[in-house]
Formats: sequence, structure tokens, C-alpha cells
Amino acid sequence: MEIKICRNPSPKEKPSGKLGFGRIFTDHMFVMNYTAGRGWHDARIVPYGPLSLDPSAMVFHYAQEIFEGLKAYRTASGEIRLFRPYENARRMNNSADRLCMPQIDPEDWVTAVKTLVELEKDWVPYEEGTSLYIRPFMIATDAMLGVHPSKTYQFIIILSPVGSYYAGGLDPVRIYIETKYVRAVRGGTGEAKTGGNYAASIKSQEISEELGYSQVLWLDGVEQKYIEEVGAMNVFFKIAGKIVTPALVGSILPGITRKSAIELLRDWGYEVEERRLSAEEVESAAKNGDLEEMFGTGTAAVISPVGELLIGDTHIKINGGKIGPVSQKLYDTLTGIQWGRIEDTRGWITKI
Ligand SMILES: *Cc1c(COP(=O)(O)O)cnc(C)c1O
Repeated sequence: MEIKICRNPSPKEKPSGKLGFGRIFTDHMFVMNYTAGRGWHDARIVPYGPLSLDPSAMVFHYAQEIFEGLKAYRTASGEIRLFRPYENARRMNNSADRLCMPQIDPEDWVTAVKTLVELEKDWVPYEEGTSLYIRPFMIATDAMLGVHPSKTYQFIIILSPVGSYYAGGLDPVRIYIETKYVRAVRGGTGEAKTGGNYAASIKSQEISEELGYSQVLWLDGVEQKYIEEVGAMNVFFKIAGKIVTPALVGSILPGITRKSAIELLRDWGYEVEERRLSAEEVESAAKNGDLEEMFGTGTAAVISPVGELLIGDTHIKINGGKIGPVSQKLYDTLTGIQWGRIEDTRGWITKI
């Protein structure tokens, strides 16, 4: 893959102060076009800016869209590195398959990310806990309203410097268990990283915030009994010494942080069960004192300890609302590997 580079003639001032999440974008973006019969072509890095699309472009009407999320980290010695980017490339191809969108060679995918991050390396922030968030996505661009797979697509990568998720230390979050709406059903698109899943989740997120909770925990879409995942995080429980996480049954997004946490936990000698886990089981484990910890896993927060659950009228406090030792150790280890404080012995790091 040959990437043409057209430099931005008027680069922006680098931000100072609080970065937040996904509000500031860098000077360039990667764009590549797909045409059926021709394949991917015209890989290029161009100045960051608005796209020009026909109003009838299929992405606007039927949500034929997929995305990914990963980060570039700056180590103390100034090196810039990615965490398991080939996993993101493979997962995007799985999402593409579900949405009838074209595959991208994982080598080309990672090369595109690396080339763009290299060009924008001064945008990778320096402060503790900050990183450069990478958002690759693909959209259907055929200008027509019929419902069928588009014949043309664009693959785009944008970058955003983001702040530390935890400004004041690892604060446990309060989570609302949704018992009315569902996010995904078996056979649907729950295991694909596609915008439609998020569109379906916004209403519940609003309700949870009104109630003073920061995120939504989804139950299965058939019986609304079994725990699936939180908004953009997979979930883990420590129950009577064992680690339990919902099995990937097709309606749950297969998180790369989830996979990494399972590998670490098993290396440390924990029994990790991937199985169905009902909200009722969590409630009764909490009642009899067996629910020791709960945490979410995802690229944005890495490990997010959960201090409280709300299901119906029942409030469940977990570990006295404090972070537990397993959550803390996972957080320290994963972020240690990402920021280069702990040696990477598993081949998880790709250097820029
Ligand atoms: C991206 C995402 C996750 C987390 O995946 P990571 O690869 O760990 O970042 C979990 N759930 C949903 C719905 C997601 O979109």
C-alpha cells in the first residue's frame, strides 16, 4: 500500500490544559477509498477537515458503518507505542463481515495507523495518563436509497489527544442495570463495533444519568436476565475468589482489554469462568457477602472499578464502594505495559 501525504499548510496550536475525551482533533487524517471490482485505492493522508458526501449516501440512512478504538502511548523515554493493534484490525474485519463491508489487510490497516501517528507524533500528549486516541472507521458512500450493500466505501482514521480518564485516582463508578430497553440480541449486531448499537443505547444512558449513575449495564435481549456488558466496556465479577465474566455469545463486543485481562488473570493463577451470569446471581452473591469485586474493561478507562449497582429499587454496594485488589493490580499491570513501566513479555506492544 502506497500512502500519498499532503501536509496541512496551517497546523493548529497544540492544546494546553484539560484534554477531555474526543473533543480535539489533530492536523491530518488518513483516507482510503473502496470501489467494488477495484478494491481499496488512493490511500492518502490529508489535512483534517469535513468530508463531502452525497446526502443520499447509504451511511446516513441505513447505518452501514463500523469503527474501532485504540490508543498511542508515550513512554517516559519518549517512545510512542500501540497496544495490540492487530487485534483491532482483525476485529474490524469481523465487524465488516457482519455489515457486508469490505475487508482490509491487517498489515495495511496497522501501516495506515502507524504512518498517521508517526506524522502526528507531536500530538501524543506528555502528561501522566494521557494518550492519543485513534478512531478508524468505515462508511458506505453509494448515493442511493435502496437497502443493499454499498459498492463504494471510505476508510478513515482520525486522531484525538485525550486526557487521563481518572483525574483523581481510580474512582469506582456507579452503574444502572437497564431492565426495560435492550442493546443487542443474539443474531443481531452486538458483537460488531457498529454505530447502530450505540444509537440504540443513548436513551438508556440518558435515563441512567438522570438517576445519578454514570453508565448502563445491559442484560440479554431475550430474557433480560443475564448480564452482558456496560456501554463501552466488558464486565468482570469476583465471586467467592473466582473471576466470572459473561461468555461471548454473539451479542457482546469481544473487547481486547477483556481478552488481555483474562490472559493476565489466568497467568496469575485465578480461575476465570466465561459463562452466563444472571443479575439474580450477582444480587444473591452480594447479599451473602461473596461479591468481592466488579470492574469494567475497555480501551478508554482500561479498568474501571464498579462501586455500586442499581437494579430496580435495589442498591448493591460492592467492596464498600472502594477499588479492590484485583482491579488495582490489573490496572497497574495493563497501564504499566502500555506506558512502558513494565516490560512487555507477551508481544502486545507495537512501536511506532
Ligand atoms: C469497544 C467496546 C468495548 C471494549 O473493547 P476494547 O477493545 O477493550 O476497547 C466493549 N463494549 C463495547 C460495546 C464496545 O464498543
